[in-house]
Amino acid sequence: MPDHTRGEIPVPRLINWLSVGALPVLVFFAYRAAGRGDTLVMATLATVGVMLMLNALVYLTLRHQTLHRRTFIVIIAALFIYVATAALEDGSAIIWLFAYPPIIFYISTPRVGVLTCAFGLTALVGLFSPLGDLLFNTPYSDSFRLMMINVLAFEMVSCYVLDLSRRRSKASLLTLAGEYEYAAKHDTMTGLTNRREGLIRLEGEYQRYLRNRQSFSVILLDIDLFKGVNDHYGHQTGDELIIKVADKLKEGCRRIDIVSRWGGEEFLAILPETGVEEAIRIAERIRQSIAAAPATYDGRIVRTTISAGVASIHGAESPSRLLQRADEALYTAKATGRNRVCSGEVPNQDTA
Ligand code: GH3
Ligand code: MG
Ligand code: MG
Repeated sequence: MPDHTRGEIPVPRLINWLSVGALPVLVFFAYRAAGRGDTLVMATLATVGVMLMLNALVYLTLRHQTLHRRTFIVIIAALFIYVATAALEDGSAIIWLFAYPPIIFYISTPRVGVLTCAFGLTALVGLFSPLGDLLFNTPYSDSFRLMMINVLAFEMVSCYVLDLSRRRSKASLLTLAGEYEYAAKHDTMTGLTNRREGLIRLEGEYQRYLRNRQSFSVILLDIDLFKGVNDHYGHQTGDELIIKVADKLKEGCRRIDIVSRWGGEEFLAILPETGVEEAIRIAERIRQSIAAAPATYDGRIVRTTISAGVASIHGAESPSRLLQRADEALYTAKATGRNRVCSGEVPNQDTA
């Protein structure tokens, strides 16, 4: 599975780096506060530093992303509220509030970003109001208050818009990557997996077999005398017939089976955890369903039959040897009259 988050900084890692980055800043301002004899500020900033480190350590132990993110948001929100209400560093520390919007929009959902920014801005307006003055008696000048509210609101809206466009680009890139991935693995005409993907899945099934030793089988199918269909009814009708056979094949297989378009009018079905008898039964059922459903094109009835070769994995044989046995069985089916299923287990055994 390709990694669609490649290039993005994972949120837990960003939070931990921000916590580590905040530590020297907190220590520096705590040290300054201690120099002024302001033990409350010193103790508060030191506590915040310890909490950030504890949060990082808890994450590294438990790997609980939601707890890690939410705790970080609570710690920094509390820190910013304290910084603004206590008017640290002669009121200049409130400028740290500008760090909040970009961080919150990156590490959280747009909803949490919008809600907490709206709450923060409202709280700031409250702090700058006469009631805020009454409660906290902050030293901010009128022009500073006006500028702070306006610039912070501007920054919050900008962060929201930029984050929205980042998320939208990411979503459309993911859709595009999904479409390319699908196109790389499937045949456009029939919607079946293509040969390349069929080979990858065969290797996957083989690895599973090596682990649990439960046999799997393959059926190689080929439309009989298909060249004649093209010659008599045209290429377009030939295409429609291939699609019809692919549909019948899908219908006849189980959900766990892997059906690929192996070549022009050839198909490969991989049947996990299936022995040879069961695989022959499935192939025979498919052969009959195709033979029993002639198609009509431009009022003309086109009868289609398929031949199939079945083989089951044995001992330490390789997937390519398994395919070779299925191919030999298919050759036998063609050589002995077509419209039949032959098994690669007992040479020349036919079930039609
Ligand atoms: P047999 O019973 O021995 O398999 O005879 P056949 O005519 O089916 O075998 P052959 O391999 O000679 O012919 C296969 C034909 O399938 C030749 C090729 O032009 C045609 N074909 C391959 N891919 C496509 C396709 O995508 N669409 C159409 N319409 N024809 C295709
Ligand atoms: Mg053919
Ligand atoms: Mg063929």
